[in-house]
Amino acid sequence: MDCIFCKIVEGSIPSSKVFEDEFVLAFRDIQPAAPTHILIIPKKHIATMNDVAEEDYAIIGDIHRAAQHIAREQGIAETGYRLINNCGTDSGQLVFHIHYHLVGGENLGPLLS
Ligand code: 5GP
Ligand code: ZN
Repeated sequence: MDCIFCKIVEGSIPSSKVFEDEFVLAFRDIQPAAPTHILIIPKKHIATMNDVAEEDYAIIGDIHRAAQHIAREQGIAETGYRLINNCGTDSGQLVFHIHYHLVGGENLGPLLS
């Protein structure tokens, strides 16, 4: 399958990893939109939020657990952050392997502007 994020999971495309466990990988976004911008993904290929099946919900929990852990490690848990999932065309989703942007390290302003 021609998926950039599956290749990052396999290691055939390099990434700046910040967290890894059995089911989840997190690495720095190549074009950061804020001082801290980390992508959190399941190792399993799931294209979008629409494709999350019943048996995948535990992985979504794992991603939230990883986000909490990474935010603490990166020192932004107290100052705050956003966890963003883009789903489909109108959201601007570019990579069709589900991922959550963990963004912070500055005042992010209003969500939509
Ligand atoms: P989306 O718009 O799909 O929610 O966001 C995709 C994100 O993946 C973008 O912020 C983009 O900068 C990031 N990205 C795309 N290709 C790569 C890559 O090869 N490595 C890393 N680290 N990030 C990538
Ligand atoms: Zn994939």
